[in-house]
Amino acid sequence: MLRRRFALAVLLMLALALGVFGGAITSREATAPLVVHFIDVGQGDSILIRSPSGRTMLVDGGEPSVGHRLVGFLRDKGVTKLDYVVSTHPHADHIGGLIDVLREFPVGRVYDSGKAHTTQTYEDYLLLIERKDIPFELARAGKSIDLGDGVKVLVLWPKDPLPTSINDASVVIRLTYGKVSVLLTGDAESAVERALLASRKEIASQILKVAHHGSSSSCTGAFLGKVKPVVAVISVGAGNRYGHPSDSTLKALALAGAKVYRTDQNGTVTIRSDGERYVVEVETQASPRSPPAGGCGLAGTGETGTGQGKGTRYYASIKSNKFHYPSCRYAKQISASSLIVFNSREEAIAAGYVPCKVCRP
Ligand SMILES: [Zn+2]
Ligand SMILES: [Zn+2]
Repeated sequence: MLRRRFALAVLLMLALALGVFGGAITSREATAPLVVHFIDVGQGDSILIRSPSGRTMLVDGGEPSVGHRLVGFLRDKGVTKLDYVVSTHPHADHIGGLIDVLREFPVGRVYDSGKAHTTQTYEDYLLLIERKDIPFELARAGKSIDLGDGVKVLVLWPKDPLPTSINDASVVIRLTYGKVSVLLTGDAESAVERALLASRKEIASQILKVAHHGSSSSCTGAFLGKVKPVVAVISVGAGNRYGHPSDSTLKALALAGAKVYRTDQNGTVTIRSDGERYVVEVETQASPRSPPAGGCGLAGTGETGTGQGKGTRYYASIKSNKFHYPSCRYAKQISASSLIVFNSREEAIAAGYVPCKVCRP
């Protein structure tokens, strides 16, 4: 009898404890997180940002042919208006789908690179903004856009006078929410990466939208070394005629220790964050037949990371028994064909590897 009463008391205490704990979780869930969707628009870019307060920003809209599908995606996500639309640069794979979006949704303001282009698509896009009388503003380095609840967007690029290259006029923005940052780079190439490094602006970000669909024209080692991405998203069309993403970019990202997600393999990639931690969700698991160069496997759903830059991986070679931080000079000498990636120290040690004496992982 006594034992039974004791068991009941324990159960009651457990229930109370769970109740309190459950309440805490519920109240935390009640605060909607920051959500960033890297939308699968084939060959092109389109990124939807929704802040906890419900403010929305769409960065680019893919090709004109995906506009209709993009409008459907936004409606599916419950979007009824867009507070901000950012058009990174006037190439059709970035502004094309925006035409349908601007036609279908009320838009608070368009931020544009101000780089002119001579195409019909660009003209249609500008005419629509004028006809709907949407406030239009040039995105310039130093401007900031407040998405509420501590979510801030800072424009890092471009500066006047605009570069002659259309890609290099791309609007580059860094989104921050608590300890979590997302860097969106449009199609900016290595000249912009050098300018950003020289500007000494804060660019470190756990999540990087890889510039120019993973082309070899971007993702220099120096830039990745400063951004230190944990998650790298490549927005790219399957079997595209440009050969994007390039092997050299995939290898550079692997060496920088970033986990690569690709819209051609993973579909739409979604990041949710409470400002402390973030979770990566993919629409489709990548095929195990097609790992990115460098041999690091793609993640499935529910990958988590924290604002502290956890998610660090460890590199080893099939030719030695040492394991390293990806930034170690010995890690950088490992050829792609010999590279082994471990997700934790424990995993490396269990596999018989010992810590490198130089980088002391
Ligand atoms: Zn592009
Ligand atoms: Zn472009």
